[in-house]
Amino acid sequence: MKNINSYNFKGKKAIVRVDFNVPLNSNFMVTDNTRIKGALPTIIKIIDDGGSAVLMSHLGRPKEGPEERFSLKHVVSELERLTGTDVKFAPDCIGDETLKLKESLKPGDILLLENLRFYKEETKGDEGFAEKLAEGCDVYVNDAFGTAHRAHASTTIIARFFPDEKLFGFLINKELESMDKLMHDPERPFTAIMGGAKVSDKILIIENLLGRVDNLIIGGGMAYTFIKSQGGQIGNSLCEEDKLDIALNIIKSARRKNVNIYLPADSINADKFDENAKTDKSDSESVKEGWMGLDIGEKAIREFSEVIRGSKTILWNGPMGVFEMEKFSKGTSEIAKAIAEATDKGAFSLIGGGDSVAAINKNKLADKVSYVSTGGGAMLEYMEGKVLPGIAAIR
Ligand code: AMP
Repeated sequence: MKNINSYNFKGKKAIVRVDFNVPLNSNFMVTDNTRIKGALPTIIKIIDDGGSAVLMSHLGRPKEGPEERFSLKHVVSELERLTGTDVKFAPDCIGDETLKLKESLKPGDILLLENLRFYKEETKGDEGFAEKLAEGCDVYVNDAFGTAHRAHASTTIIARFFPDEKLFGFLINKELESMDKLMHDPERPFTAIMGGAKVSDKILIIENLLGRVDNLIIGGGMAYTFIKSQGGQIGNSLCEEDKLDIALNIIKSARRKNVNIYLPADSINADKFDENAKTDKSDSESVKEGWMGLDIGEKAIREFSEVIRGSKTILWNGPMGVFEMEKFSKGTSEIAKAIAEATDKGAFSLIGGGDSVAAINKNKLADKVSYVSTGGGAMLEYMEGKVLPGIAAIR
């Protein structure tokens, strides 16, 4: 497999799958350029080597063909600002005009193609469409980790047209390196912290982690299904009734595997799901009827933080409470701080999943942890032990 670190793009036209699925405001201005910045090292390497970069991405979820609000032309000026280079734009991602634009590229040029998802062939993984994307290019680079779990034309199928000239960009390399370190070579103790709303989304990853971690901390809404499975009274807190058995089995399996499992000892409860709700505290296993646990309490913060501070490897996915509401954000913030402290003392910490990333950013701690993953769903599937088609296509 070719490696971008040693690859020389001189004189080559690289077709690069990036993730420019960025948020835009009502004036179509980019409001968060994190994803564009993430792709910069790969783009810069290609043009600095003397190659040219043809960038392709999706943006939003267009339904039937082109839609102005999902046009990637809105990203051009931000990309120009960040690269310090003029960026050409192809108003179609395939076709004769686009091929001509590709052929006219000179070393150092960047061409951005229009939204791939204006064609339904993209998500269908259509081979003919992938071949058209590949046309006129010498090498395929995949640097979009967030879509690597999809067998789409631009993320997977296109690799067939570059049997020898295909490689990962720096961003995917870094993602894989960080996740492989965690899954195959973690320094111990290794602590996984799982939170968020739904147990059902996280069952597979928890099961895969049980054979690998020393400590499993479960917080957020999903904790209440575990608490109820052991006979706790959780009032109106979130609960997936059909997952009670699975939750109990996970607890038993953790014990068998000598994994310490931590559930929140106490909770901050609310009388309704609202920023202005009345609040109260209780042990998590005795939430009053009509009340719901929306954040972990002081005892839980203390216990979880202590475990985290004593860890050498940390994985965090999902908030500890309804962190979007100020009143219920303390648990998540304190956990973020404990992870930053552990990292400062030498632990390796990986944060993944949209909401934990948002929480780490909200607390301005993104540069105080080892790695913040960009691929929510893709990260979860990789950690579940699944083969990601976009990764397999290059490996
Ligand atoms: P997920 O997408 O499953 O990671 O869940 C993230 C969402 O879970 C966030 O929007 C949180 O507000 C929500 N959440 C976290 N804790 C709770 C809780 N105790 N009750 C209800 N929702 C929660």
